[in-house]
Order: sequence, then C-alpha cells, then structure tokens
Amino acid sequence: MSDTVDCPYCGHENDMSHALTDGLSSNNTFDHECEECETEFEVYVEFEPSYTSSEILYEPCQKCGSEERDIYKKGRVFPFPEALQHTKVCKKCYMEAIAAEYSK
Ligand SMILES: [Zn+2]
Ligand SMILES: [Zn+2]
Repeated sequence: MSDTVDCPYCGHENDMSHALTDGLSSNNTFDHECEECETEFEVYVEFEPSYTSSEILYEPCQKCGSEERDIYKKGRVFPFPEALQHTKVCKKCYMEAIAAEYSK
C-alpha cells in the first residue's frame, strides 16, 4: 500500500503515512489539505484484505457416522434440537431433528 496520494488539483504527492490519526468516516474517506496548494481534497483509503486460515476438519456425525465438514455442535448451533441425544451431528441429521421438533 502506498503512503502517498497525488493532489487532484496540483498533482503534488502528499504523504499520507500520518494522515490517518483523525480516524476515518464510515466510508473510509477523510479530507486532507494539500501540502502544496492547500486545497482540501477527499482521500479514499483502501484497506488490504486480510486472511486468516484454519484447518479443514471433518468430523463424524454421532448419529449416522458420516464424516462432514460442517458439523452441527451443541452449544454452537441454536436452536439445538432437544430430541437429539448427540452433541455433534451432520447437517442432514440436524435438519431432520429440527423438522421433527417443529412438527410436534
Ligand atoms: Zn495540491
Ligand atoms: Zn448424520
């Protein structure tokens, strides 16, 4: 990310590395006065995307035994069907239990 931005009026390269202290407006813009011609212009800040990673975990469904990537865990999924005797189930079993719960 470059820390300079060209003034749209005179083309002067303004140093932005200390310009972010005032905080940004909600749309990532702020007004900056050109160091050269002293005209205010709007600066749009682009943030680089950041990535986090985690392992892909396949866990067995406690009900039907199929290994699934999106396992539904009790305590992490709401509502968790009371009828389920298990704490980790696959989506299919979860959906079935939910459906059974609501058809009561
Ligand atoms: Zn300027
Ligand atoms: Zn299952």
